[in-house]
Amino acid sequence: PEVAVGSILAGAAHRFRDRVAFGHGTRHLTFSELDRAAHRFANALAAHGAGHGDVVAVAMPNCLAYPVAYFGTLLAGATFSPVNPLLPADDLAAQLADCGAVAAIASARAADAIAARLDRTRVELVVMSDPDGTPLPGHFEFAAFHAEAPDTAPGAEFDPHTTLAHLAYTGGTTGRSKGVCLPHRNVVVNALQFACCQTGSLPSKDERGDVVLDQVGSAEEWPVRLGTGTAINLTPWFHAMGTIGALNIPLLTGTTVVLHDRLDPGGYLAACERLRVTSIGGAPALFAALIADPSWPSRDLSSVRAITSGAAPLAHDVISTLARRCPDAVIAEGYGLTEVTMGAVSGPVFRSGLRKVGSVGVPLFDTEVKIADEHGDPVPAGERGEVCVRGPQVMTGYLNRPQETANALRDGWLHTGDVGVLDTDGMLSIVDRIKDMLIYKGYNVYPRELEELLIGRPEVRGAAVIGRPSAEFGELAVAFVVRAPGHDEITEAGLMAEVNEKLVPYKRLRELRFVDQIPVSAAGKILKRTLRDQL
Ligand code: ATP
Repeated sequence: PEVAVGSILAGAAHRFRDRVAFGHGTRHLTFSELDRAAHRFANALAAHGAGHGDVVAVAMPNCLAYPVAYFGTLLAGATFSPVNPLLPADDLAAQLADCGAVAAIASARAADAIAARLDRTRVELVVMSDPDGTPLPGHFEFAAFHAEAPDTAPGAEFDPHTTLAHLAYTGGTTGRSKGVCLPHRNVVVNALQFACCQTGSLPSKDERGDVVLDQVGSAEEWPVRLGTGTAINLTPWFHAMGTIGALNIPLLTGTTVVLHDRLDPGGYLAACERLRVTSIGGAPALFAALIADPSWPSRDLSSVRAITSGAAPLAHDVISTLARRCPDAVIAEGYGLTEVTMGAVSGPVFRSGLRKVGSVGVPLFDTEVKIADEHGDPVPAGERGEVCVRGPQVMTGYLNRPQETANALRDGWLHTGDVGVLDTDGMLSIVDRIKDMLIYKGYNVYPRELEELLIGRPEVRGAAVIGRPSAEFGELAVAFVVRAPGHDEITEAGLMAEVNEKLVPYKRLRELRFVDQIPVSAAGKILKRTLRDQL
């Protein structure tokens, strides 16, 4: 943890050199090209006065410019703040104002939105990267901005424990997005925690003092081999799972990341076959879409060795379908939140590891998980309570929200707002979110249990359950269901009756509606607050 994030890039450039780091369509960047471009970008930022203590917002979709802007920002000593480029213009400007960004690296759409609301932010420098756009007057074009800058070390100073690397925003699934302060230590540690256990490696420093991995485990046991794999990615880099999982971890493992622009399951599966992809990862919505695609049974997926899921619960049914289709792959679900950089817990990452249906796994190294009652005291194994996390990847606090920070960080533990259970093997299951839990006549009802029951049925392609406030009963469980093709015969009432037969009375669904689709966030999470608004 005593190194800055730039050390991950330097280690990768030295060790994997001319291997492709990121590919997009017909273009690519090797590890050493990325290293040089990021240094030029850092020097260009520094020449415009951006450096230590400054926040640089990056509002772009995944593209080859992204890792250059990301590492360039960090090498300059500035703080990277990712922004969803498709946010409505006012929300985008509000996030930029909240994080106090002085510079924005943006797509054409985001740059337009920022330009129109410049007076609401502190942004003084806009660099636009978009093949389809022309920079507005006063804005810089991405390539021209850094082409002439030197690729020497910018010489920024870091304290890994206090210099902020990321100012990342929570997904906003339950309410307003909050800015999360993550120093360099957090990012390096969290990337290492996952990369080491995907590869069976130990971290060390190379002769230059940069961080690299040394594989010590047998290659058959671990699904990712250093410097040989290919991953396909559509997780947005503006989300924790993208920035850590698809940007930093691949640099540590020397994995080539091929960018896939949109969720077209058929095209994604064809690319997996064509590129002999070894790792696929994303939110559960990705896997549900792949499995539902007509080409799912016929594509050759024999090269896939690692399947990783996170951000939301992966239905048991989906896990068994993936396991049947890719028997040689290790399927690992991870659990985390923006407040722990990316993750705190991971499922079995090696072939012979203990796996339990429904469990997201064991805490990563240097990480402790406690299940707490309402006073913060640990509950016995097998009992439900709030998941609390302690470890070097836990945030130092929310930006400018002292009250919310004090609520979340108590007695050295991060209180996650998730309900979970630790079993006697120390394996964690996530039951639900405290905020999503319904209370019916004083009984706790966890929507996830009802969603699992619905999704396990052949007539159901997707489901989400929320509560309708009721003066008499507290909250009533309401299900939104997307029917699977070819099951038009089942009615709302018929399906509800069949599901309710399997439930004790207090957990029963009180209403079930068929819908065409369930709203999900850019990170692939069901947007329950949108459903609540619809209700
Ligand atoms: P906000 O906190 O603003 O409402 P958010 O919760 O979507 O937004 P993130 O940090 O993106 O913000 O998401 C973290 C949450 O995602 C966790 O607290 C947890 O509820 C859920 N989650 C992540 N991984 C898993 C998993 N494997 N299983 C179940 N839930 C998960």
